[in-house]
Amino acid sequence: MTDLKTDKGRLVVDEYLQVPGHPEVFACGDAAAVPDLTRPGEVTPMTAQHAQRQGKQAADNIAASFGTGILQPYRHEDLGFVVDLGGTQAAASPLHVPLAGLPAKVVTRGYHLLSMPGNRVRTATDWFFDAVLPRQTTQLGVIPADQVPLETASPEQAHSRPIVPLAQMLLPCRLIGLQWDGNRSGMTVKLNEKAFEHAKQLVRKGQTTKDERDDWSEHAPTAAERNAYLDKHGWNDYSLWFLGVDDDMDEETKGHYEFPYGDFRRVHRCGVISAESRAAQYKHPEIQQALEKIHKLLDGDHA
Ligand SMILES: Cc1cc2nc3c(=O)[nH]c(=O)nc-3n(C[C@H](O)[C@H](O)[C@H](O)COP(=O)(O)OP(=O)(O)OC[C@H]3O[C@@H](n4cnc5c(N)ncnc54)[C@H](O)[C@@H]3O)c2cc1C
Repeated sequence: MTDLKTDKGRLVVDEYLQVPGHPEVFACGDAAAVPDLTRPGEVTPMTAQHAQRQGKQAADNIAASFGTGILQPYRHEDLGFVVDLGGTQAAASPLHVPLAGLPAKVVTRGYHLLSMPGNRVRTATDWFFDAVLPRQTTQLGVIPADQVPLETASPEQAHSRPIVPLAQMLLPCRLIGLQWDGNRSGMTVKLNEKAFEHAKQLVRKGQTTKDERDDWSEHAPTAAERNAYLDKHGWNDYSLWFLGVDDDMDEETKGHYEFPYGDFRRVHRCGVISAESRAAQYKHPEIQQALEKIHKLLDGDHA
């Protein structure tokens, strides 16, 4: 059926929403050029208020064409319009009184709320919180620069490492009071064998604190404590307290040392558990396994 008449791309129908010459074909809404009986010679505009009403009328008229009810012409007096825009912006013309800004917003939202078939309280609550609270943070995927090579045909896909939600990246930083300690560990971070041996010795000697995972935010050495220890003992001793070393960074920089597990006196169970999960998260299996061993030693009477 390709020979049907159209008006600006809309299928021409009569006031009963039937295609002339094809009473078995009905059309309505944006797709149809429906005569506007309140404005002779014009067709109804492409708006939801017409589309919705025409849909109901079309359904009734289809039923009528099968003998249930009587064919009725479509007629709707436009009482104005409401247009919801961003923020406090809106435009409305209720009963053809032109409004803009906040008054239009109130009318628009009120009208839309009343038009909803249900879920009104939830929608109104959402609107209220959207108005009074800052925009919600849902998830911000952060891809390290080295994972997005420009020469690739698909730079939007992270390579080799998963996208790490920002909150997950920030959490370890907050816990141990460092700047960006967790995620800087890339492929260049290796197990610090000397530190591994040192940690095991300390556990065997009982130089441990058996705290819970969440305690690390309190028990991790602060930046000042790290600096003080470094000044007093030097880089070699300092290095023994970190299970990971980043070969991309100079040995005599704090950035070279990652995955701390204690407070320069004792092995902290909370530090080991925290480092263990970060090693797993950033895919350092060697470091993760070392931490698992220390964790087991800690939990097993220093055997
Ligand atoms: C950005 C924007 C803002 C608007 N704001 C307002 C407003 O504030 N107030 C107002 O009254 N009106 C507004 N409108 C107009 C209103 O959305 C439309 O008039 C109304 O949705 C038309 O309803 P409809 O059912 O005729 O068509 P649609 O809502 O377009 O529905 C047609 C459906 O058919 C589907 N379809 C298309 N082709 C096929 C196919 N071949 N097979 C199967 N399915 C198909 C489409 O995917 C679609 O789901 C707005 C329109 C837009 C685009």
